[in-house]
Amino acid sequence: MTLNDPASQDIPVAAAYGAAAGVRRPRRLLRWVLLGFGGAILLGGSCIGGFYLLMKRGQAEVEPVADVFLATLSRKDYKGAYKLFTTEARNAISEEDCEWFEATFDKVLGPLKARNLTGFRVSKDTAGATAVIVYDATFANGPGTITITLQKIGGAWVVHGYRADSPLIIKLLTCARCKKKSNGLFRFCPSCGNEVSVTVP
Ligand SMILES: [Zn+2]
Repeated sequence: MTLNDPASQDIPVAAAYGAAAGVRRPRRLLRWVLLGFGGAILLGGSCIGGFYLLMKRGQAEVEPVADVFLATLSRKDYKGAYKLFTTEARNAISEEDCEWFEATFDKVLGPLKARNLTGFRVSKDTAGATAVIVYDATFANGPGTITITLQKIGGAWVVHGYRADSPLIIKLLTCARCKKKSNGLFRFCPSCGNEVSVTVP
């Protein structure tokens, strides 16, 4: 359930929304939205040199798209951020739920103060190209990891999933009402249906 990068391996899957790399079927898509990333990232390319060039070119294309998305989130423009997702991702999660996740992350983590790119990969399959970009993040309230997946649609990279991992979010995984622990951040407790409420410290 983790990406192959050391930064995210130490932190259990905490929360994710949008959609995830390489998953096309709606039912599985939904499960990923609820539980976080899973599955293998398959890397294409048989020539190391060619692959490296592909990666560098992809990174130069993807980084500005991720920058715009994160800047939109930093302005708390949740409606604007929702519009930046692929149609497939927007079909998998409602605007209201997407905004709830974003607002919850903001309340718990505080503003993003700094980020440092720690991972990037692209993959291609018959359905198209997918990119995953990972940042070590410093939020006002503590450290975390940001993972953004993107799909290439009509020649342009589009945000397909966003995930924030942080020990701060893990605290939300135990339901305040029934005390059951879930393995992902849900708006409503899977056991008792209680809506997660976040108290600002
Ligand atoms: Zn509960």
